[in-house]
Amino acid sequence: MIRLLFLALLIFIAWQLLRRWLAQQRSGPQAPPSGFSAEPESLVRCERCGIRIPASQVAAVRANCRQCGNDQPGG
Ligand SMILES: [Zn+2]
Repeated sequence: MIRLLFLALLIFIAWQLLRRWLAQQRSGPQAPPSGFSAEPESLVRCERCGIRIPASQVAAVRANCRQCGNDQPGG
């Protein structure tokens, strides 16, 4: 009889874990990934390479942009 109780306890724990796991899968991550906002951001067009950059990331993108980063004349 002890064995049966033990088995029932194991099943109960497994069921609880499964329910928690399913709840986590269903809800998922609520916040969007950092760096991306849900609402559309105003885009700034780069006058050199022509790509459009979100206004908040202009400085970061231009720092990494080869054409914007290099201020070599005659390019
Ligand atoms: Zn650029």
